Amino acid sequence: MKFIQQQPLQQLNTFGIATTAANYVKVTSLSDVQTIVTDRYWLSEGIKVIGGGSNILLTQPLDGLLVHNQLKGINVVAEDEQFVYLKAAAGEQWHDVVMYAVANNWGGIENLSLIPGCVGASPMQNIGAYGIEIKDVFHALEAIAIGSGEMITFSQQDCQFAYRESVFKRALKGQYVIVSVTYQLRKQPIFNTSYGAIEQELARAGITNLTVKAISDAVIRIRTSKLPNPSAIGNAGSFFKNPTISASSFAQLQATYPEIVGYHLPQGDVKLAAGWLIEKAGFKGWRSGDVGCHSKQALVLVNYGNASGSDVWALATNIIDKVQAMFGVSLEPEVNIW
Ligand code: FAD
Ligand code: NAP
Repeated sequence: MKFIQQQPLQQLNTFGIATTAANYVKVTSLSDVQTIVTDRYWLSEGIKVIGGGSNILLTQPLDGLLVHNQLKGINVVAEDEQFVYLKAAAGEQWHDVVMYAVANNWGGIENLSLIPGCVGASPMQNIGAYGIEIKDVFHALEAIAIGSGEMITFSQQDCQFAYRESVFKRALKGQYVIVSVTYQLRKQPIFNTSYGAIEQELARAGITNLTVKAISDAVIRIRTSKLPNPSAIGNAGSFFKNPTISASSFAQLQATYPEIVGYHLPQGDVKLAAGWLIEKAGFKGWRSGDVGCHSKQALVLVNYGNASGSDVWALATNIIDKVQAMFGVSLEPEVNIW
């Protein structure tokens, strides 16, 4: 393993924030991971893990050791009449796993096409898009405990998945390196096209015969047309989670803002579209220097070039305060602030 000091990070986070890691190492094997997470020196300095860097905001130089997960491998580990169990190593690109499933016509993750980042982070925030979340296809994951080096298998229940949440962002934060995830995919796919613009896009393209590939292609086209490509404009996708409020609070807001966008959840609460709140608060397309709010999707904060992590965070807090003042709603970052 090659340990690098003062590693530049601009190319390693999709926000394109120029800062450094005091110490950096790539890991390509389970024994690499185990060696590092049981090393007393690195344990005392502090260990952080990174995959694709597409869900972090770097607000300061990183001290301690940054471990870049590059474990590779995608394999079918079991199958039965209904399901295929596909195991992917944590350093695989998530979209490559989706493409692997699409090529084999296995259903379940086609709506999650083109989400940046790696397999290891997919359970961290229970990635989701177009009505599907990782929890819907999750079978198990393996993680190595930071400190003991013990390999533990986590079940669906152990992960405590919720909307953009898991136990790894809460009670077990910073305690494990996820090394593989196994997904349960359907041999006879069940399609979910009712969310967002999928149906509209399928109709526009004249698709009447639904397939895993047709849906994946539609999602890719929608995402490409709406979301800024991080290699052109720095961003980490949706900066905030969609807030949930009670049905009565929603009714009150509707009285003032009849066009407010909210979705009634089965439990009775209402999920607000944070993008709508931010747009209404006047930030959509807003820019100051190199930091801004994207012109097509207000939920996405962007770095046009040389913004610092603190610049982005200053805009984020400005948005949080304005939305709170206008609507009485608290926005919570989805992105991990480092
Ligand atoms: P990183 O940013 O590297 O890490 C994120 C967090 O996970 C950090 O806390 C890190 O320490 C931890 N982590 C990473 N790997 C491991 C590991 N192996 N073990 C332990 N901890 C680990 N997200 C969605 O849910 N849905 C979307 O539709 C979506 N669209 C996006 C679109 C764009 C343009 C962008 C830039 C981002 C989008 N995201 C979306 C956010 C992001 O892509 C996902 O959260 C993704 O899973 C992050 O993966 P990563 O490898 O880049 O994680
Ligand atoms: P969109 O389709 O314009 O929808 C706006 C918001 O409304 C979304 O946030 C979505 O909530 C919600 N929504 C839409 N249809 C819904 C339905 N039928 N039932 C319940 N809620 C509904 O959103 P978009 O920005 O183009 O994104 C499309 C999908 O990709 C969304 O699922 C979004 O979460 C996901 N995405 C996520 C990120 C990220 O970084 N996390 C970035 C880009 C896109 P949800 O967000 O809860 O789904």
